[in-house]
Amino acid sequence: MDERGSPDGDPARGLEHGPEAPETPIQVVLRVRPMNTAELRRGEQSALHCSGTRTVQVSPPGGGPDVAFRFGAVLDGARTQEDVFRACGVRRLGELALRGFSCTVFAFGQTGSGKTYTLTGPPPQGEGVPVPPSLAGIMQRTFTWLLDRVQHLGAPVTLHASYLEIYNEQVRDLLSPGSSQPLPVRWNKTRGFYVEQLRVVEFGSLGALMELLQLGLSRRRSSAHTLNQASSRSHALLTLYISHQTSQQMPHVDPREAPIGGKLCFVDLAGSEKVAATGSRGELMLEANSINRSLLALGHCISLLLDPQRKQSHIPFRDSKLTKLLADSLGGHGVTLMVACVSPSAQCLPETLSTLRYASRAQRVTTRPQAPKSPVAKQSQHLETEMLQLQEENHRLQPQLSQMDPKASGLSGARMTWAQQNLYGMLQEFMLENERLRKEKSQLQNSRDLARDEQRILAQQVQELERRLRSACSLHQPGPGLAPLCPCVVVPAPSCHALPPLCPCPCCQLCPLCRAPLARWACPQRELHLPQVFGSKVPGGMPLSARPPPWVPPCNPVSAKCPRERSHRDWTQTQVLAEMLAEEEVGLQFQTWPGDWKPSETKSAAPCDAAGASHPRARTHGALAEFSLPAEGQAEPQETTVGPWAGLCIPGLQSPQL
Ligand code: ADP
Ligand code: MG
Repeated sequence: MDERGSPDGDPARGLEHGPEAPETPIQVVLRVRPMNTAELRRGEQSALHCSGTRTVQVSPPGGGPDVAFRFGAVLDGARTQEDVFRACGVRRLGELALRGFSCTVFAFGQTGSGKTYTLTGPPPQGEGVPVPPSLAGIMQRTFTWLLDRVQHLGAPVTLHASYLEIYNEQVRDLLSPGSSQPLPVRWNKTRGFYVEQLRVVEFGSLGALMELLQLGLSRRRSSAHTLNQASSRSHALLTLYISHQTSQQMPHVDPREAPIGGKLCFVDLAGSEKVAATGSRGELMLEANSINRSLLALGHCISLLLDPQRKQSHIPFRDSKLTKLLADSLGGHGVTLMVACVSPSAQCLPETLSTLRYASRAQRVTTRPQAPKSPVAKQSQHLETEMLQLQEENHRLQPQLSQMDPKASGLSGARMTWAQQNLYGMLQEFMLENERLRKEKSQLQNSRDLARDEQRILAQQVQELERRLRSACSLHQPGPGLAPLCPCVVVPAPSCHALPPLCPCPCCQLCPLCRAPLARWACPQRELHLPQVFGSKVPGGMPLSARPPPWVPPCNPVSAKCPRERSHRDWTQTQVLAEMLAEEEVGLQFQTWPGDWKPSETKSAAPCDAAGASHPRARTHGALAEFSLPAEGQAEPQETTVGPWAGLCIPGLQSPQL
């Protein structure tokens, strides 16, 4: 037995691989209708035998070898409408349409073979009389499924529908009210072939869609002839447009244009007929010729699409309106299902064989399904790609995670405990260290605050001392201006600069305590120093050494001898003067100055106050004062001299409370 057709043409199984494959063949389902009453009455024999679910066997009545055709599914006359709907895998097409693909279901076959019955059920029994649910065709069942699917989709989906017919090679809108004018078929790069000004109606319920279907069916041209009392005289195309946007979200487009998104198109072709067999005359014959021409053009395109060498060449889709509108379904980017309908009667065998060959060729035609690049489809594709990437990353990270798992890494319990204890110990150490540093920081801040307070108090005291010093200087200075202060007096130090610089050498020009240059210090009574520095004789015939310095205080009543009555040698203050005087007078009784000089056996310097209390600076100035020279004419000094600083005690500095 000769078997033709695709060995694996099961439409449902073929579509399981999805349209993502580079090329997808047109899926073909063969439906053999039962013998109608007229055929049975005429005693016609069946020439077809369905062997299995996918093969039909043709037995020529005159004898000869049987011919078998294999399709995706073969459905005999006993199959119900629901069986056909399931076997055709229309749900799968609906899912693809929801994902943005362009899907087509078209019924093909001889007139009266059951195409319209398969798609929409038996012809309406009267105006407004619905088709019984059990006899509802693929279209009504698909509508029901789709509306239910959209309702449970959880995402906004907008549905539109258009319905047209190609009658005598003219496109007519079946949903337009009134007498519709023929519509032109155009082509552009983005949309391909399309019908201009075709009415596209939005619907939201199954009932609304059914009404649109009934409206189109009622307007579709049909006539009665010998083989079919309700023969369709036109090709009808009902298209559902599925968009994942609400009407408000849709970009502003020409309302005459079809919405962007998935499409699900049902094509009920007019049947090929032998004019002689149908007995068509006049207008019916013109209709039949037109139908046959378009079907011939369709067959021609399919034949060319099958030729691998000519597939890349020109396909004459423009030869008819039907091939134009089916171009994408046949050779483009759509997903296509063909339901080939045949009569089992042996009287129809030539047409049946033609249909079987036609369908057998069609199922070898492949398309390259491709969803339109709408924003929603792009987003969906992007999300799918992202999901795949995340899945890959997940697979890659899972082994790494298992390696980090201590159980999976094989660490023993003791090592894990040790590691955990160590970490805990380190953590405790860090916490203690942190606490210690915090306390230390607090102590340092307290010390800093105390130091600042002390500094502030000292500054205040210094200001007070300066103020007192200025007042003291103003008392002793004749001039209006205030002499620059020695640094030594700014701070609570002894007023060592009371001594005038008597010697020009660098050592004597410095304060012996603070080493400040005395040249910068302006002694309030420096004028009085000058006459006593140089010259061994003074006016009045009195030796220099015999005169007391002018600043010498009054005689100490305690002293045995008033200093003013003594010779001047008792009042020399500096080593230079002493040396100068030593040449002419007796001699110097100290060895070095300042420092380790040896004062003579004298009394300590007298206090500056009357009470005789020891002046706090007496020790300091003793280095300058506690030496004595022998009086003129005496071998030994009689009495200790009183330091000149005794009369220069600065008011306010006598009892510094520092
Ligand atoms: P076509 O559209 O191919 O010209 P129709 O669908 O109009 O043919 O069918 C012609 C007649 O056959 C109709 O009266 C229809 O009810 C009947 N018919 C077709 N297929 C079946 C079927 N499978 N079971 C019962 N009746 C059928
Ligand atoms: Mg029909």
